[in-house]
Amino acid sequence: MRQKIVAGNWKMNKNAEETQTLLQDLVSKLPQTEAQIIVAPTFVNLASAVNQLKNTSVIVAAQNMHQAENGAYTGEISANMLESIGVNTVILGHSERRSYFGETDSILAYKVDTALKHNMKIIFCFGEELKDRQDKQHFNVVENQLRDGLFHIANEAWNNIILAYEPVWAIGTGETATPEQAQEMHEFIRETVRHTFGSSIAENVSILYGGSVKPDNAKEIFGKPDVDGGLIGGAALKADDFVAIINGII
Ligand code: 13P
Repeated sequence: MRQKIVAGNWKMNKNAEETQTLLQDLVSKLPQTEAQIIVAPTFVNLASAVNQLKNTSVIVAAQNMHQAENGAYTGEISANMLESIGVNTVILGHSERRSYFGETDSILAYKVDTALKHNMKIIFCFGEELKDRQDKQHFNVVENQLRDGLFHIANEAWNNIILAYEPVWAIGTGETATPEQAQEMHEFIRETVRHTFGSSIAENVSILYGGSVKPDNAKEIFGKPDVDGGLIGGAALKADDFVAIINGII
């Protein structure tokens, strides 16, 4: 059985006090679940989040990291810095990093290598833009993002990889992919992995859907056979909504 996962990407939201309050609320309401629950607060609140969640099963992830080991990269955060505060999971390739911060597939390939060198788990994000789908290029775009950013890794490295399909047109727009659109793409992604890395890796990798997942649509999306959970933005910022989404998977 593949690992089910519900991850909250908090993006640039919640200060120190708000982070503490939201985590407290979340932990007090968390249902019993087989799913792995992950939260990704902003960098400055990671250490306190790790501390606050240390007796729980909730994992803390970073939203990004720099590809270099260290050096003159003002404002950046390294894998070693994350490890040193107990953060061993990182989101890479989010569409906001790609579009606002110029992260290309080759930069992402480098980040993937660095994260793997540190034995970190990677939530690798990718997804087409609206015009790609309108032009019927969405499968090509997704395949290229996977091949150029991720598919250079060794077979063994797949134990550290979680895939997150996030169609850009569905992020923060309230326009969710239909469960059928999500399933169609997730199946394609799994077949693409199978083609290059074989069935065992393809069957074992968790593929999350992200893009306007809400309490009222989570269950239907998560019910699709190739959807193994979600990467949640806006709805992860309220404990009740995030818990309701988690309830959609159990
Ligand atoms: P929303 O759930 O706010 O659409 O964001 C999705 C996302 O980008 C998660 O990484």
